[in-house]
Amino acid sequence: MDDVVVVGKVLELMHETMKRLVMDAGGSALRSRLTALRELQEEEGRDPLRILIGTILSARTRDENTRIAVRNLFSRFKDARALADADVSEIEQLIRPAGFYRVKARRIKEVAKIIVDEYNGDVPDTLEGLMRLPGVGRKTANCVLVYAFDKPAIPVDTHVHRIANRLGLVSSRSVEETEHMLMEKVDMAYWKRINDTFVMFGQNVCRPVAPLCNLCLLKDMCRYYREKGSSNKSIISSNSSNRTTDQIKR
Ligand code: SF4
Repeated sequence: MDDVVVVGKVLELMHETMKRLVMDAGGSALRSRLTALRELQEEEGRDPLRILIGTILSARTRDENTRIAVRNLFSRFKDARALADADVSEIEQLIRPAGFYRVKARRIKEVAKIIVDEYNGDVPDTLEGLMRLPGVGRKTANCVLVYAFDKPAIPVDTHVHRIANRLGLVSSRSVEETEHMLMEKVDMAYWKRINDTFVMFGQNVCRPVAPLCNLCLLKDMCRYYREKGSSNKSIISSNSSNRTTDQIKR
């Protein structure tokens, strides 16, 4: 697949497929219309601290829980200084819906303290600066670059990794490898759009188990479909419309 040429088409077909999914479901909403980070970006006007903390909170939890925890936390603490001075047990209670709240609360306070002490209260806007913060890995740092600072980067999570491999855009065994291969192969003009679109597509269509290949408009260019789809009845249903509706409501 010539990735430089086709990635724009891939993104377009993903959106088109998700529109079809809504239509097939009789207007039912997708599992999430916006990813938690895109929603935060829209609600908070790209506030880097909220995006950073939201990304930390989003680890191993559902988008809706991330949203609740971020709202709780920032309705009480407005900036990095307030968080740095906060009682960790209060942070724990506020972010409890996000799960792993003890670890996350300590991490948030630690990160806030460094931002105050070393960056004068402002979230750093480089990959290197962000990755110096405790617990901030490449994915989180790249998310902050894209969603808070509008800089080109490709945050690779499990959805981006899985779909890029299924489509045949990359052949990789780790998210790090996927990120590097995508950065080499995909025109930088598309980098900022990849995470958001792939995550939504992965949550709703190209799911880890039982992807909805039957209604996916990317079938013709998909390596996974070519190799497994045509011989797997559980992937390609003959009654696509009903099955899709059932799966959305689950
Ligand atoms: S695996 Fe199925 S749902 Fe995923 S991109 Fe390929 S055809 Fe689409």
